[in-house]
Amino acid sequence: MTDSFDRTIDYVRIAVTDRCNLRCFYCMPAEGILYEPKAHLLSYEEITRLLSVLGVLGFQKVRFTGGEPFLRKDFMQLLENTAGLEDYKSIHITSNGTLLQRHIPKLKELGISKINLSIDSLDKERFHKITRRDDFEKVMQTFHILIDNGFKIKLNAVIMKGINKQDIIPLAELAKDYPVDVRFIEEMPFNGGYKENVELYSARDIYSDLKAYYPNLIKLQSKHGDTASLLSVPGYKGNIGVIAAFSRTFCNTCNRLRISANGEIKSCLYDDGVFNIRDYMRSGVTDLELADKFREIIRLKPKDGFEAEKMRKDQKEAMKSMSSIGG
Ligand code: SAM
Ligand code: SF4
Repeated sequence: MTDSFDRTIDYVRIAVTDRCNLRCFYCMPAEGILYEPKAHLLSYEEITRLLSVLGVLGFQKVRFTGGEPFLRKDFMQLLENTAGLEDYKSIHITSNGTLLQRHIPKLKELGISKINLSIDSLDKERFHKITRRDDFEKVMQTFHILIDNGFKIKLNAVIMKGINKQDIIPLAELAKDYPVDVRFIEEMPFNGGYKENVELYSARDIYSDLKAYYPNLIKLQSKHGDTASLLSVPGYKGNIGVIAAFSRTFCNTCNRLRISANGEIKSCLYDDGVFNIRDYMRSGVTDLELADKFREIIRLKPKDGFEAEKMRKDQKEAMKSMSSIGG
């Protein structure tokens, strides 16, 4: 399916829960956020149905995120159902890596190999300061086990002014020894109201740090829908990416739709939710009606994140946490 700007929309990101066992301070306050009652979350049968309808519309890629997806008890069942849907060439997961180790054999059995792990620092104390939890060793162990088992790993690190810019090079150096893409993300204001203003350490700042350390850094051609500007250091096993999540320089190639844990569809990360598909589904509509609704939503997808922000009915959207939006 294409939108009115001729972009092919074939990638859906679904937050399977808004709950999380970490408290990354760029994502939510120390006391957490007000979670949705369980009955408000999409059931795994509802998610499978949505995926199957989207598959008919040409969707080929799905990412499960959250919150922490592995906190959800029926998550493996959802993965099993999704693996049975023929339309999806690739199933991706974004996780904080604290709870997934015991699921590795099942993930392998299902052929799910693409996992994004979030690690914002290789310094145990700084990791603790950022996540407000003491799971550094567990997450690093997960990283190594996944690599040893042949998973295709991308590391996500949010870079924050005054907090972890000193981690950029040590994290990037992981790409030297491991076949892993290390991606640095600009901080966005979706932190559950923890702090009002984000002092941006921009994609340009991150790129300058990388270029200063790696004078022979090469810019690679981005793939369809890629939000990261991809870079490579000659001889390194993995690549480096910089994601201008706040500067929003990639909207012209956007290929995605988001579904929050409570069924709210976001046709852009910066809108405030355009339609609640859970309520619509629970009103008893047919698959054809669901498909028509998705077509309408995709047709109305805004040009870019700045336009989406202007069109918000509720400017408090920026007070939401990425954990409920689905990062
Ligand atoms: N809990 C999982 C995790 O941390 O990977 C999945 C959900 S988390 C919301 C998904 C991604 O969003 C993570 O890579 C996280 O670093 C990123 N994220 C969360 N809040 C953010 C913010 N305010 N700005 C930029 N990225 C953010
Ligand atoms: Fe949890 Fe992920 Fe948000 Fe950290 S970024 S608090 S791990 S949802």
